[in-house]
Amino acid sequence: MSSTLDRDDRELIDEIGIDRANDALDELAELVKRQLELLGEDPERQGLLKTPQRVALSLSWLTRGYEQDARQVMGDALFDECHENMVMVRDIELYSLCEHHMLPFYGKAHIAYIPNGRIVGLSKLPRIVDVFAQRLQVQERLTDQIAEAICEVLHPRGVGVVIEAYHLCMMMRGVQKQNSKTITSALRGSFRDDPKTRDEFLRLAHTG
Ligand SMILES: [Zn+2]
Repeated sequence: MSSTLDRDDRELIDEIGIDRANDALDELAELVKRQLELLGEDPERQGLLKTPQRVALSLSWLTRGYEQDARQVMGDALFDECHENMVMVRDIELYSLCEHHMLPFYGKAHIAYIPNGRIVGLSKLPRIVDVFAQRLQVQERLTDQIAEAICEVLHPRGVGVVIEAYHLCMMMRGVQKQNSKTITSALRGSFRDDPKTRDEFLRLAHTG
């Protein structure tokens, strides 16, 4: 397959990992070609010739989170630190695919935690979001998985995750008003049990 691909596509293959690319891409491309036929298209016309391969590649990239592990992502960036106040990263860009329609949902994640002797490099939090967002998802589970992963690795006093997202499966199909945003939250430890901490976090998360 790789001979017919554009340069951008080859870069995608590098990021997916060549094993996965070799195993699944050709078969996936065949399915996409069949899908085009069933939709009434002609997969042999000029504009669609490379589409099956591109779709296969892009789907593979968009779901590469299955090959990744949050523990490994954070592993080399954990530091002992006795900081005891809330650490928060707001407005983390998020792109995922809903598992019901395989259409994108996108928005922002806000993550906070209160350390318990250990902190993680701040740049890792967006990467943890990607590990779980780059799978077929529902927003509720995505929110929980991010909170859970941070709990497991950091054992913090508490964790809070808020995700606000727009779902194309609702917007494009006219199921809901175009601008409605879905908001989910996952609270663990002191973020769940201590009203003061919870309020502080939710206030910070909801006022940008
Ligand atoms: Zn959907």
